[in-house]
Amino acid sequence: MTADELSAAVRRFVEETVLPHVDEWDRRDDLPDSALRRLVELGLPGAMVPTEYGGRGLTVADLVPAWRALSHGWISLTGAVNPTGLATALLVRHGTEDQRRRWLPLIGRGEALASFSITEPQAGSDLGRIETSARARDGGGLVLDGEKRWVAGGASSDVVFLMAEMEGSEKPSCVVLPADGRGGASWQVGELDKVGYRGVESAAYRFEEHESPGAEILGGHEAIGSGARQMLDALDVGRVNVACRALGIVDRCIECAVEECTTREVGDGLLGQHTHAQLRVGELIARRAGVEALTQKAAAAVDERSELARELSTSAKLVASDTAVWAVDAAARLAASRSYAAGDELARLRRDAPQTEIGEGANDALLLALAKPALDRQ
Ligand SMILES: Cc1cc2nc3c(=O)[nH]c(=O)nc-3n(C[C@H](O)[C@H](O)[C@H](O)COP(=O)(O)OP(=O)(O)OC[C@H]3O[C@@H](n4cnc5c(N)ncnc54)[C@H](O)[C@@H]3O)c2cc1C
Repeated sequence: MTADELSAAVRRFVEETVLPHVDEWDRRDDLPDSALRRLVELGLPGAMVPTEYGGRGLTVADLVPAWRALSHGWISLTGAVNPTGLATALLVRHGTEDQRRRWLPLIGRGEALASFSITEPQAGSDLGRIETSARARDGGGLVLDGEKRWVAGGASSDVVFLMAEMEGSEKPSCVVLPADGRGGASWQVGELDKVGYRGVESAAYRFEEHESPGAEILGGHEAIGSGARQMLDALDVGRVNVACRALGIVDRCIECAVEECTTREVGDGLLGQHTHAQLRVGELIARRAGVEALTQKAAAAVDERSELARELSTSAKLVASDTAVWAVDAAARLAASRSYAAGDELARLRRDAPQTEIGEGANDALLLALAKPALDRQ
């Protein structure tokens, strides 16, 4: 399936299956197995696995239309495929050849899904506060202690790429942790309840002397202490994914606004015959065009691994997410009370859109990171 065929298939899935059921799935906080299976059949989670490891070798830019189309239906679906994409980037860019051969074919065939875990109760943007620790286990593997939060897909994924401080190193490392033993006494799992972005598992972990014979450091022993660089590098891919979530929300807001304008009568005609409503729709369209262009430019920079990849992917995520939150408000002003009814699409988008301002880095923390190199040059 080419990238164009993939996005056409995703659009069909969204029209035929997602949009008719998303309200019910959101209400039940349930991303049905059948929907996840369909994403796997479409090859979305492992789409970036290189062809030499049995995958399709699609690029981030190839996936932008599919991620956007999926988000037009429900951003929880786009979020559900994201961690496996991050894992693919981690393995391709930083894994040893053995690690690539172990995981990439499974991911490419949809037989393994991954989670990506940095956040802890006391540490999100500030990686200096990571406390989860790892040490070598007698006989091979690692022993883990600590807590993790907000692990997407973290109750059912097959492998977790997890930031931890390896004994003897002051900088964090990326641990490749197979899911064996998850849910037992030494690796306890809870699920966090959320107001939006529902259906996606958001796990909380507690490790107590968890012995994992299969755990290893991404990139091998010499990569101990490189976890921050490796995982932030993969987040360039994730930030484009989040920008696509936001773009899909903006697409849907425009549809809701146009529908309201062309069906609702106010004053002496349709809402859309009034100038203020026309201005609002025009502004939605103009801002979407800006976000779309920036997201495509960021995706190309991430694929090229250009030196602007971090700045552009961060900027795309920031501008897109702020636009999504604004767009829901703009459309809701036109729909007014309808947008406040439980079960209304705009009511759900009002809960979903802020996730894009937090996921892959809180927007304010990202603004600080963007400003730092520019200010340090002075
Ligand atoms: C639904 C959802 C899903 C998520 N999925 C995952 C996941 O799969 N894996 C994962 O690891 N994480 C995940 N996260 C966590 C997310 O990535 C973090 O919430 C995010 O990185 C921000 O961290 P924080 O919430 O601790 O906020 P903080 O990092 O504490 O930021 C809060 C505020 O502190 C301020 N601040 C931050 N840094 C600085 C600084 N250097 N100087 C001064 N002020 C600063 C800013 O004002 C910022 O807005 C998820 C979160 C949510 C809500």
